Amino acid sequence: MPDGGGTNPQKGTLPLSLAEKILYDSHRWVRDVDVQGGHCEHCLTKKLRSGETLYYHPVLEAKPVTANGFAISIMTEFIENSDPEATKQDCELKAFYRLSERLKARFPRLPICLLLDGLFAGGPSFELCEKHGWKYFIVLTDDDMKSVQQRFEALSQSAPENRVEIEFGKKKSVKQSYRWVNEVNYIDSKDKKHKFPVLECIEEKIDSEGESKSTKFKWLTNFGITVINADILANEGGRLRWKIENEGFNNLKNGGFEMEHAYSQDKTAGKVFYYLMQIAHLISQSVEKGSLFRKAFPKGVGSLKNIAFRHIGGLAQLTVEQSGLYEFVWRQVSNSL
Ligand SMILES: [Zn+2]
Repeated sequence: MPDGGGTNPQKGTLPLSLAEKILYDSHRWVRDVDVQGGHCEHCLTKKLRSGETLYYHPVLEAKPVTANGFAISIMTEFIENSDPEATKQDCELKAFYRLSERLKARFPRLPICLLLDGLFAGGPSFELCEKHGWKYFIVLTDDDMKSVQQRFEALSQSAPENRVEIEFGKKKSVKQSYRWVNEVNYIDSKDKKHKFPVLECIEEKIDSEGESKSTKFKWLTNFGITVINADILANEGGRLRWKIENEGFNNLKNGGFEMEHAYSQDKTAGKVFYYLMQIAHLISQSVEKGSLFRKAFPKGVGSLKNIAFRHIGGLAQLTVEQSGLYEFVWRQVSNSL
């Protein structure tokens, strides 16, 4: 891949990925905590096809993400029905508006680039980013914003110069074809006019079995797109959104943290558990990706869970007198420098 050099307009902004996940639902209440019909007055509800009502508690997370896989929680918004007078349930979008205000108040000068999925593509999100001075990449799927898709296609036909192809990887096994339009007009449901660039990337990749696989990525963004920066915007910007799913939530669900386990029947205690888990995940990532761990285990220790098991094993075999604790820690730190 070409070096970004001085051409990366995202340099200096923090890629901040937002994603929603269900913490636990009534099925888990029954299974994990053995509370029949376990739910509270703040649950979100959903009718399942079977006719059963599912009670659940989702959360919206804001995590800065990096290309080497760090995904660290800096703000959490719980999605729950807290207003008994409300006629509609709380939802991901409402949580996003609340979280955005908190984020701006807490980090007023932080240059942020939001990485969002297609659900957030809409007038309020564009206005909000403009108001707060934030950059964004919002995933645009083929089924979303038909008028934008049509304008993109029409304008792209009349601007054949807005295209570039790059190849990289072993034996140039990855080929990316880019198209973009820098001014696509859009009128939202409240008749407000918006204008933004749209970037498309079609990636063809030869997989391990020699088969060619094609994937399409498309984003709405407020970065100006050029022949120089199109691939950098995609590969170092829009595509980082997935880090919150893989390194963020997947590890929390399957890497030993059991994020979806209903840890407490108490609403506040459940939230405290969640925050503690985010801190534990931060420490886990720091260990996993830190130089000391790599030095001690150059070949790694297998799965992420094994890091925790190694820690437990190490602690179980450790006998340190309280009086010698300071000296012991100091010796360990000195040895590792
Ligand atoms: Zn509940």
